[in-house]
Amino acid sequence: MINRRNCIKSLAGLFGAAAAVSANATEKPNKQTKKDEYDVVILGAGTGGLVTAIEAYDLGLKPIVLEKMDYAAGNSLYASGGIAAWGTAQQKAEGHEESEQSFREDMMKVSEYRADPELVDTYVKNIGKDLTWLKEHIGVKFAKIKRKPWPLNYRMHNVDGQGLTGGGRLIRYLLAACEQRNIPVVFNTKAMQLITNDDFRVVGIKCVTDNGVKDFYAVKGVVIATGGFSANREMLNRYMGGPLSRLVLRGSPYTQGENIKLTEPLGVKLVHMDQFHCGPIVEETHANPNFVIDCGLGIDVDVRGKRFMDEIFTYTQKSMATAQRTPENLAYHIIDSNWPQATSAAKKFIGMKTKVLVADSIEELAKKMGADPKAFVSLVNEFNTALKGGKLKEMDPPCSLPEVKPLDKAPYYAFPFQGGITATFGGPKINKFAQVVNTEDVPINGLYAVGNAAGGLFFGNYIGGTQLGGAIVFGRIAAQHMAGQK
Ligand SMILES: Cc1cc2nc3c(=O)[nH]c(=O)nc-3n(C[C@H](O)[C@H](O)[C@H](O)COP(=O)(O)OP(=O)(O)OC[C@H]3O[C@@H](n4cnc5c(N)ncnc54)[C@H](O)[C@@H]3O)c2cc1C
Repeated sequence: MINRRNCIKSLAGLFGAAAAVSANATEKPNKQTKKDEYDVVILGAGTGGLVTAIEAYDLGLKPIVLEKMDYAAGNSLYASGGIAAWGTAQQKAEGHEESEQSFREDMMKVSEYRADPELVDTYVKNIGKDLTWLKEHIGVKFAKIKRKPWPLNYRMHNVDGQGLTGGGRLIRYLLAACEQRNIPVVFNTKAMQLITNDDFRVVGIKCVTDNGVKDFYAVKGVVIATGGFSANREMLNRYMGGPLSRLVLRGSPYTQGENIKLTEPLGVKLVHMDQFHCGPIVEETHANPNFVIDCGLGIDVDVRGKRFMDEIFTYTQKSMATAQRTPENLAYHIIDSNWPQATSAAKKFIGMKTKVLVADSIEELAKKMGADPKAFVSLVNEFNTALKGGKLKEMDPPCSLPEVKPLDKAPYYAFPFQGGITATFGGPKINKFAQVVNTEDVPINGLYAVGNAAGGLFFGNYIGGTQLGGAIVFGRIAAQHMAGQK
């Protein structure tokens, strides 16, 4: 059985091997150059960093990628591997039509119109050709496009294959493309401090390596591709507030906020710092309970058996409410056998080595949850009565689900879930060329940011598949700008 945790473990092995190959590749350029000078120095071997390196190389520049861990350890490895695009050849071949305007409108709408329109436009204008680049230039294979639940659309291009996450497969393709080009990807090299010259241009980076401190110089620019700060509890607390800093990590433990720590001393404009994406997770096993809590039936309760949110909430809202409104950041989705998928959902959970509580009565279920049986029975009775009387919206909190069924058919199930953080959206603001700007919106010469490290593209929520997409679009653009093509 491959679950996310095993998968990440095997990926670590895989990329450890890649590290050994890539470490050899570093020797050649180091010997050839008098000092460690490259055209482009890229910090972080995630999707954004590796795409920047490949594009820079293909445009005739000499890039190097520096990665702090001994494998490509960022959020990219945890991603399902969906990339959202419109108007691609694959969509046309599979009979799906979508306009530029509708894609753009969805990206703006999901951000409550607070994403930077210039960055959204840049995404929308480039993602189609970047998908073709991935397919034809890098050799990435995509699965047949399936409809996503929201927006009801066929735009998710999933990296195809077995055995790894889709994001892991994408990283494998990108590392192979770096290796083919002999692009140095140096592991165990942590960027610590940007180096500027007398004109305040960013000209390099000071790193800690296995062999001590080392400076890498960049003629064209340094690219921050270090991801966001979802794994840094102190920063989550600082920018989002206490309860949200208890969100369980859904991704990499190494997204520690270097996008802020490295750039803040340069007076960059930090934007959307309190913004992030969250989703449900079971911390112990990393199981994703989305398919249960989003099923449109049942109630959500805390560990005391008390309702604390409207069940109409999306999975994102439920995750946030669980972190904010329950002291333990822990809830149960209660469902009965009126839900036809209840048995198969429980099997799926157990298959992911995740505990699901099953009982023949509500009272027994309450006992298994550690809740007060009397109070829980009375809550379920209250729910069933309100449903019968058409008064679900009068409950406290209201339940606004449109097609609910009563909770009255054994066996009964309690699926545990917690609020989890996927990624942070805040960071140094970039312009449409991926240049980092200062507080006066003036680009800081020689400094670029891409992927989750950059701020401005996302606010509130995101259209599934646009985070990886954004890392690809702005990674290529940063390289094109440094090559003088933008
Ligand atoms: C569970 C989950 C599922 C997801 N699914 C999807 C999806 O299907 N589609 C989608 O669009 N998005 C998805 N995402 C979001 C997506 O994974 C990220 O947006 C994307 O991977 C970000 O890529 P990146 O290159 O910016 O950063 P990362 O992949 O996080 O890479 C950053 C790298 O920088 C390195 N680094 C950090 N600091 C330093 C330093 N000081 N020096 C050197 N190196 C450093 C890190 O070790 C890491 O390797 C998902 C996220 C999660 C957690």
